[in-house]
Amino acid sequence: MRVKEILQSPEAIGKSLEAKGWIRTKRGNKNIVFIALNDGSTIHSIQVVINAPDFPEDLIRQLTTGACIGIKGIVVQSPGKEQSVEIQADDITVYGSANPETYPLQKKGHSLEFLREIAHLRPRTNTFGAILRIRHALAFAIHKYFNDNGFYYLHTPIITGSDCEGAGEMFRVTTLSASNPPVLKDGKVDFSEDFFGKETSLTVSGQLEGELGALALSRVYTFGPTFRAENSNTPRHLAEFWMIEPEMAFYEIDDNMDLAEDFLKSLIRYALDHCRDDLEFLQKMYDGELIDRLTFILDNTFERITYTEAIDILVQSGEKFEFQVKWGVDLQTEHERYLVEKHYKKPVMVTDYPKDIKAFYMKQNDDGRTVRGMDVLFPKIGEIIGGSQREENYDKLKSRISELKLPEKDLWWYLETRLFGTAPHSGFGLGFERLVLFITGMGNIRDVIPFPRTPKNAEF
Ligand code: ATP
Ligand code: MN
Repeated sequence: MRVKEILQSPEAIGKSLEAKGWIRTKRGNKNIVFIALNDGSTIHSIQVVINAPDFPEDLIRQLTTGACIGIKGIVVQSPGKEQSVEIQADDITVYGSANPETYPLQKKGHSLEFLREIAHLRPRTNTFGAILRIRHALAFAIHKYFNDNGFYYLHTPIITGSDCEGAGEMFRVTTLSASNPPVLKDGKVDFSEDFFGKETSLTVSGQLEGELGALALSRVYTFGPTFRAENSNTPRHLAEFWMIEPEMAFYEIDDNMDLAEDFLKSLIRYALDHCRDDLEFLQKMYDGELIDRLTFILDNTFERITYTEAIDILVQSGEKFEFQVKWGVDLQTEHERYLVEKHYKKPVMVTDYPKDIKAFYMKQNDDGRTVRGMDVLFPKIGEIIGGSQREENYDKLKSRISELKLPEKDLWWYLETRLFGTAPHSGFGLGFERLVLFITGMGNIRDVIPFPRTPKNAEF
């Protein structure tokens, strides 16, 4: 039985069963040995009690932190205060020992930085077990939310031939020789000889294809990996991250905001309802205010302001920012966090950004200078969601594309959706790791994905 099931089922008491897992700790003496056995099914380990003289000495010696074992025995009520039940071992199998001289995960107190260097083993710590279970629960909750609300999961391509999204620098995908690529007369690389017969990259967003889906199925979402070769070494950026992008026909900007708020709240509620043990562990170890902060999000309506109002607040704040604020500049994390943590003290949704700092596809407002973008800003994180109502008017979209000198020939299919049966529509992108960061209360995005990809780091 899995450890979680044993701990949760009172009817297991008195039964003989088998548990398998990894030794977290071992203590005791010549006669009696206590082992904390964990199999990753829960933050809690089960205590195994071993009457040492019943077993060969050589076997007892192999029972060290990190070893993988199977225990057959009777489940009994535990006399100890720490746990309700324990297993009295009748039979022990050692699947894999772990030399105490070299196994890097001895007892406790490793820094998160050190654990990043042993990402192949860190899932065996309580911290990463908790984070990975919460990450799983949230992925499941995302699919459930959309399924319950009539959205279809659309698989958008990971290799893309268009670099128009403009969300960030892209990673090139090629099979051409790096040392000796075919070249044209002018010396440039001849991509017509490449695998796809053109330049291709890893996607930065599934949005453009998501829109095609929405303009047929009404409500779709993507949930997949995205890649940005941005050289930003921050605690909130990864080169490879997972993004959730719902896209809805017949949604205007206000509907989009309603969805974003309801969606985020439902995910937080799901985590509070289903990951309580893990959240309590993380709260105890890292972030004393974690559960209060999560509950606070549920209990408050997100503030909705325009970019212009945000700039006014920031200018009048008298706060010294590293990046100066004036109408027209993009909001930096420090500005976003001021609005959320100091001014409103709750999540904020900012809309109607200057068109020059936002992507070409955002719906243009009548004022001629702003677009219907929408960012959701969270405490500790800053931007957690970026979205917009999309420009559905063919002529306006086309003229914006030429104004920005984007390659119209690569976007013909996108433009055609505005030519045939166009519809008002909206959508947004939620960075999955930013969500997990917020819900776990961790401080660095490298610690909420199993194997982080960041500048100069692609180990494991
Ligand atoms: P930022 O300004 O924080 O770099 P962005 O404006 O580039 O974000 P979008 O292009 O709007 O972000 O992407 C949508 C969402 O994807 C963001 O709101 C954020 O949650 C997430 N995101 C963006 N870039 C990254 C990244 N490099 N690593 C992890 N998540 C990211
Ligand atoms: Mn970015």
